[in-house]
Amino acid sequence: MRSPAELTELFRTRGLKVTPQRQCIFRHLHGNSMHPTAESVHAAAVHEMPTISLKTVYSTLNDLAAMGEIQSLDLGTGSSRFDSNVDAHHHLVCNRCGLVRDLYVEAQVPVAPEQLNGFTPAATEVVIRGLCSTCSQQHDRTNEGDAHG
Ligand SMILES: [Zn+2]
Ligand SMILES: [Zn+2]
Repeated sequence: MRSPAELTELFRTRGLKVTPQRQCIFRHLHGNSMHPTAESVHAAAVHEMPTISLKTVYSTLNDLAAMGEIQSLDLGTGSSRFDSNVDAHHHLVCNRCGLVRDLYVEAQVPVAPEQLNGFTPAATEVVIRGLCSTCSQQHDRTNEGDAHG
């Protein structure tokens, strides 16, 4: 994703409105590796700009996604997650708290041509689900508690 200043330029050259609200969203997304939901971008932005609406957040995120500046991901955590990292990568997803982390691995799934039925694959996305380090520590503690009664 480009810097907030570059995005402002890009939006203007495409004839899209750039309001202070939208620029606030650009700043919250830039360098953000949390894969936020629209709701969490809104919650963060509203501290800086109390008048910002969730609708503005959604339309800005959709515009950025349409321009290829961010990715919209459905990782099965309830709401779409927005990723400012548009390089090819995969994800680790925590089943308990919904934490999403980038994962860089070479993903190759051995598929026999007859299984593809003439389908031409373009990309393989890997999602590894489990528990993040924080949740697995809590999980261990819970289990210890059980063991000691
Ligand atoms: Zn977790
Ligand atoms: Zn990512």
